[in-house]
Amino acid sequence: MKKIQNYINGAFENPIQNGWMDNYNPSTGEVYSQIPNSTQEDVEIAYQSAAKAFKTWSNTTIDERSKIISKIAQLIEEKLDKLALAESIDNGKPLSLAKTIDIPRASSNFQFFANAITQFSSEAHESVGLNAFNFTLRHPIGVVGCISPWNLPLYLFTWKIAPALVTGNTVVAKPSEVTPMTAYLLGKICNEAGLPKGVLNIVHGLGHTTGQAIVAHPNIKAISFTGGTTTGAHIARVAAPMFKKLSLELGGKNPNLIFADCDYDKMLAVTLKSSFANQGQICLCGSRIFVERSIYEKFKTDFIAKTKALKIGNPLAEDTNIGALVSKAHLEKVKSYIDIAEQEGGTILAGGNYVTIKGFENGYYLEPTIIEIKNSNCRLNQEEIFGPVVTIMPFDTDEEALQLANGVRYGLSSTVWTNNLNRSMHLAKYLEAGIVWINTWLMRDLRTPFGGMKDSGVGREGGFEALRFFTEPKNVCIKY
Ligand code: NAD
Repeated sequence: MKKIQNYINGAFENPIQNGWMDNYNPSTGEVYSQIPNSTQEDVEIAYQSAAKAFKTWSNTTIDERSKIISKIAQLIEEKLDKLALAESIDNGKPLSLAKTIDIPRASSNFQFFANAITQFSSEAHESVGLNAFNFTLRHPIGVVGCISPWNLPLYLFTWKIAPALVTGNTVVAKPSEVTPMTAYLLGKICNEAGLPKGVLNIVHGLGHTTGQAIVAHPNIKAISFTGGTTTGAHIARVAAPMFKKLSLELGGKNPNLIFADCDYDKMLAVTLKSSFANQGQICLCGSRIFVERSIYEKFKTDFIAKTKALKIGNPLAEDTNIGALVSKAHLEKVKSYIDIAEQEGGTILAGGNYVTIKGFENGYYLEPTIIEIKNSNCRLNQEEIFGPVVTIMPFDTDEEALQLANGVRYGLSSTVWTNNLNRSMHLAKYLEAGIVWINTWLMRDLRTPFGGMKDSGVGREGGFEALRFFTEPKNVCIKY
């Protein structure tokens, strides 16, 4: 059976205590590889290797760094088919999605930051009347930690690693233990691209052991984390007494506000995606749908029909829309929410059941599910389910729509469908979310700030925000 290894100091290593864990293929429910169950000792060796590499890497020219990072982007692009297949098998997502979204974006992440660093500059301030001049030096922080989740494995892993590396830091990174494969392959790509030894170190293992060792390491001075809100709160508690720099990209429960004056067909097609793409396992999915009452019944009928027509099955088949959920535990968690629907006064309008696929009987499949709710305060509408489950509910006024949208602890993204400019601008201003999409969803320009408000996180990634996060600003004041 294939063994994934840690990537430390440019070499592939077994975990020191030789502990291994099973890695499942969600489409079949079978174990298909083993991954290191790394301990604090492995993290320490990864840290030592990163610390050793820091001096040289932080002093390489921007051109040189940019060239190597760009080469990684190019190699990911060249290996798109292989990486997409690995991602689909590891995660259960449709291969078509991995080919068109996950892997191209992983390549873009490196290419974008390879370009961005060449345009990154620091500020200068003349203290007029005082005969003094200030400028800001921006140094890399040192060894930084990057920890990512399973839903968009290589996409989110590289979204952190690329800006960390390009700014001259060295990295100890941990992908999700549920989807380790493409991170493992990335190590090989980094060697091929000529990334010096020790600049990137990838340690595999569980969150509360391996991840915890990264966060608690006294000399890893910044942590960029994407994952659940509860985990984020724990990480903040561990890191705060050590005054670490923290970027936390956490959970979401995003509203999708649909007004009667929208471009209906376009809205319907995109709403299907924002509800169920990647089996609903995207932090940006619009899992709370609110529809203006005058088109509510029509929307309901059309949305149910489109949802029922989605093809669930083998992620590798070209015509599959909905693949497998990422793990058995996650499948059961998502189903447990569906099971409380009636108790909460909800009505299941579509889906709601496990699915058995011929030839893949032990895979983790679930029908895309629409639940009509009467009360927006129910758990189904308040808690992050992170699966192919959406709630729907009508509204009457703009003010009510805004209140419903903002009536959760989360504030990651929001979507609005309307052709009314005044309404768009009003909602853009008052929606409590890090992103407001108007008449679109998941459209990303990598220069824009990305992150959440409220319990969806602290800090922003993307563009110069990420380059600022991974550097330490220092004011130099010269009196003349
Ligand atoms: P998770 O919090 O369980 O795990 C995320 C990562 O953190 C994994 O690598 C895990 O091993 C590690 N981890 C767990 N406990 C840790 C600890 N004590 N110390 C250090 N590391 C630890 O999340 P998940 O189930 O992998 O991912 C799903 C969650 O991620 C959802 O809540 C989703 O909304 C969120 N997410 C957010 C964004 C965003 O950009 N805001 C993007 C994708 C996913």
